[in-house]
Amino acid sequence: MIPSILPTYNRAPLSFVRGEGSWLVEADGSRYLDLGAGIAVNALGHAHPALVEAVTRQAQALWHVSNLYEIPQQRELADRLVDATFADTVFFTNSGTEACELAVKMARKYWYEAGEERHEIVTFAGAFHGRSTAAIAAAGSEKMTKGFGPLMPGFVNVPWGDHHGTRAAITDRTAAVLIEPIQGEGGIRQVPDQCLKGLRELCDDTGALMIFDEVQCGMGRTGRLFAHEWAGVTPDIMMIAKGIGGGFPLGAVLATERAARGMTAGTHGSTYGGNPLACAVGSALMDIVSDPDFLADVLRKAGLFRQRLEGLVAAHPDVFEEVRGSGLMLGLKCRAPVAEVVSAARDAHLLLVPAAENTARILPPLNISEEDIGQALERLDRTATTVKADAAA
Ligand SMILES: *Cc1c(COP(=O)(O)O)cnc(C)c1O
Repeated sequence: MIPSILPTYNRAPLSFVRGEGSWLVEADGSRYLDLGAGIAVNALGHAHPALVEAVTRQAQALWHVSNLYEIPQQRELADRLVDATFADTVFFTNSGTEACELAVKMARKYWYEAGEERHEIVTFAGAFHGRSTAAIAAAGSEKMTKGFGPLMPGFVNVPWGDHHGTRAAITDRTAAVLIEPIQGEGGIRQVPDQCLKGLRELCDDTGALMIFDEVQCGMGRTGRLFAHEWAGVTPDIMMIAKGIGGGFPLGAVLATERAARGMTAGTHGSTYGGNPLACAVGSALMDIVSDPDFLADVLRKAGLFRQRLEGLVAAHPDVFEEVRGSGLMLGLKCRAPVAEVVSAARDAHLLLVPAAENTARILPPLNISEEDIGQALERLDRTATTVKADAAA
């Protein structure tokens, strides 16, 4: 019999009743160190006082009015995002997938307004942009698309790291290039700064718009507010979600005035997008995460974490292969099957998130303490010992 919850997930047999900073707590009081942060969502950990305060205060005043009216909380968050980035304008969504939908629509509308037949969106193998029909077509992987055809046309998927193929794919039919500066689901695969720069130049040469998907790598995760800042390039359109809401569903599309020129009244909408409750939380989170001192602290702790992970890999070369990623968006590429590593870590009360390329993702709250990083390493060391012992048995 089908369960009451549609069985599209293989869930771990854990159920939490409370969160405290970087820790999750079960009903019986058992505590798990959370290095997944709800898949890079709980940017400030669980139950951060400033976010609890923001959501409580707003919940007592007003939750939802719809976009038929002015929403000051939405304006405040949009102004903050515009001030902090390349963008001139923002549309709020409830998720990364919805941000992907608008990013694709915006790019196509741009070319429609220009009177040019440019519909194609160039994407990359291993990408993840969500689970809508457009987002799975964008990712192009068999795993996500099989059985869901006919696929939305107009996506051209290029092999990862294929410079020649990328150049060949970007033509006078290309509306936009869509890329994650660091692939998350794809196994913490970072686009080298030089390649992101080269891609920007290719887009400039051909007129194609550049869309960055910073749903996972953005919002302070790499020690800069957005990952692309490291490469010194900016996109025309950017999708964000996950960390911006700190656990409250919130996403957004950021764009330049030029890229957004086709999006006039009536061309797009959302019932819930940009509601007062979500935006109050988003503003409280932006307050903290966009502070240069906070970002400097992320970088400092990321350096410490990474150095210790390199030591872990050196100590257990038969279990781990390498450390990947940037800032607190880290990956442990494993030699042992990643599912075994994640499961042994869980037995050590440590939560990791598996990804492609046999990689375990480490996406802790950005405000994780040094003490908890120490705890994480101790538990990872125990995990490696267990995985080795199991392999030998
Ligand atoms: C999670 C994710 C999405 C989809 O976001 P949802 O909020 O799950 O719809 C899109 N792009 C990237 C890079 C993601 O990590």
